[in-house]
Amino acid sequence: EPVESFDYVIFGATGDLTMRKLLPALYRRFAEGQVPGDSRIVGTARSPLDDESYRERVRAALREYIGADEIADTTLNRFLGMVHYVSLNGADASGNWPALASLLDSGAGRTKVRVFYLATAPDLYGDIARNVAEKGLRSETSRIVLEKPIGTDLETARKVNDGVGRYFPEGSIYRIDHYLGKEAVQNIIALRFANPMLERMWDSESIEYVQITAAETVGLEGRGGYYDGSGALRDMIQNHLLQVLTVVAMERPSSLDADALRDEKVRVLKALKPLDPRNLRANVARGQYVQGRAGGKPVPAYREELPGEAPSRTETFVALKAEIDNPRWRGVPFYLRSGKRMPEKVTEVVVQFRAGEPGLFGEARPGSRLVIRVQPDESVTLPLFVKHPGHGFGLEEVDALSRPAGPERARYRDSYEGLLLDAVKGSPALFVRKDETEAAWQWVTPILENWRESHEAPDAYEAGTWGPDSARELLRRSGHHWVEDAAA
Ligand code: NAP
Repeated sequence: EPVESFDYVIFGATGDLTMRKLLPALYRRFAEGQVPGDSRIVGTARSPLDDESYRERVRAALREYIGADEIADTTLNRFLGMVHYVSLNGADASGNWPALASLLDSGAGRTKVRVFYLATAPDLYGDIARNVAEKGLRSETSRIVLEKPIGTDLETARKVNDGVGRYFPEGSIYRIDHYLGKEAVQNIIALRFANPMLERMWDSESIEYVQITAAETVGLEGRGGYYDGSGALRDMIQNHLLQVLTVVAMERPSSLDADALRDEKVRVLKALKPLDPRNLRANVARGQYVQGRAGGKPVPAYREELPGEAPSRTETFVALKAEIDNPRWRGVPFYLRSGKRMPEKVTEVVVQFRAGEPGLFGEARPGSRLVIRVQPDESVTLPLFVKHPGHGFGLEEVDALSRPAGPERARYRDSYEGLLLDAVKGSPALFVRKDETEAAWQWVTPILENWRESHEAPDAYEAGTWGPDSARELLRRSGHHWVEDAAA
């Protein structure tokens, strides 16, 4: 069913994110009939373009990122008719704001939902919010969407939040974490709270540990400048993996309302046990890839991919052991890891249940393992032991729960599709609240400070492997191992 008609104003409209993710997502929702035709998409950036030249860029981008054969010309032309462009420096009060204001106020513009999507560098967010407000661009129903990263540590995150918060109430600020837009992540909530059997087993008495992995096979892909200033901890752990952790670990919310849900998520983040900075290596492994192989071919080291092959201590891999200091989880490690140039592209959550009593069936059996796969394919599996048919009590493993989700099951091809329309509908449940971002930074920032102050380099790992030995050592100390080592 269609949403209300809207005006989507994108700051950073000529950028990679807009072309690769935002416009394809809006296009797909339009093609599916969810976007009313009198909606408008207004791109802004400093580049001197007009409507026509911007539309040509959008046309090329959609053909490239969606695939020319999936796009019908008539639909594409109708979509492009909704697209406009205003050349504007969003951070500059003397920019061409009157042109943007008169475009937005024309037609039925005043009465439509207005969404401002900030997809520039985050240090511009405060200035853009101020200009939007002071130039009279907010409407009754305006919302502001903020792309990641919200800052680079606790202090800069507060600066971004306070800068935008001065002009927009928290209820109208939508911080994107596209992992929350993923079907499999939302499914964790259903699995946990719609199945009393699982709900009752969801604690330290039954669960031995949890692993959350987000592995990429790619290296830098030309985004060297950006990535080298960030690293895996900021780029993946502070936001995506800690968000997944909150969904796995939160208490049952009183409802699925945005604030009920986020109240529980933030409680988890605040209960994360601070890591001891004097003994960080006991809980955190940091790696950077050196030459190795990917897809059967030799690939260069991280440093060799950087402009000028500059020396760098940026981590391309991080694994850490998090503990949640509350009655449900005390003593259960949550192992988080993310890296580039891993052997496999996979994002998954592994919930390891405790082993049973040995004796009756011979050796002790490992506990069951619930695997929620987020990427590249979505699935949920839970193998259980049953009796092998025939004489005696031999056992075999069967999938008690198995839901592979082919593309035909996914309503959205990309996690941005649902999220962009949630902002129009005014449903912030799958967006990150200010206190969540700040609590996550609070936990992560001491690690960053420790790394900055220490003169140690990250541990080397060969491209195409699962990270440095220190990552395996991290689990070995607790008698655990990563999921791929268990399979071997
Ligand atoms: P990008 O390709 O460098 O694009 C930046 C955009 O901002 C361009 O459209 C640029 O256009 C515009 N811009 C820069 N300064 C401006 C100003 N003063 N006023 C108005 N527009 C301005 O960057 P990106 O990769 O799209 O990333 C954008 C943001 O999203 C960043 O915060 C990034 O960290 C985040 N992000 C990106 C990705 C991704 O996959 N690319 C994923 C997640 C998050 P002009 O030069 O014409 O002004």
